[in-house]
Amino acid sequence: MSDLDPVTRLLETARGNPVDDPFRVTGVMMQYYHVCKRELWFESRDLEIDRENPTVVRGTQVDETAYDDKRQNLHLGMIALDLLEDGRVIEVKPSSSLTEPAEMQLSYYLWYLDRVAGIEKDGVLAHPRERKREPIELTDDRVDRVEDAIRGIHDIVSQEAPPPAEEKPFCGSCAYHDFCWC
Ligand code: SF4
Repeated sequence: MSDLDPVTRLLETARGNPVDDPFRVTGVMMQYYHVCKRELWFESRDLEIDRENPTVVRGTQVDETAYDDKRQNLHLGMIALDLLEDGRVIEVKPSSSLTEPAEMQLSYYLWYLDRVAGIEKDGVLAHPRERKREPIELTDDRVDRVEDAIRGIHDIVSQEAPPPAEEKPFCGSCAYHDFCWC
């Protein structure tokens, strides 16, 4: 295992530079880190599950019809995101209990675009139920939180076993429910 800081390892991997132990973080991993660390660990092991399960897609399972924007999908290395016509990155907040995961996923996209591609973008966190949009900028505080989360994700996915299950309001609809509670 490399002694490099996980943030440096991720950046070197994303830039295509030689690195002994590549490290990748997707937007979903950033989201799961803030939803359930056990779920993140399962995700990191590529466990084959039903991708139509409501919880696995809960980050995107929202009323998209609330928006009539033309969006552009952008794939860049480890991330895939949606751009609005004005160039801002949009992430949808699926429910009132999942604000932080959606905000951190969006912050990660902004951080990745800036650090890997040298592209400065602003974001917008959409709240379909309230038909509101909250502007999100990559502030110094968000940079610190993203980089702390990258290190935290590295700690979790490096463990040989998943963290213990802790019951959450959405466990009942989680794709990994049977791995935790049966
Ligand atoms: S069932 Fe609950 S504890 Fe288990 S992975 Fe899903 S959200 Fe996490």
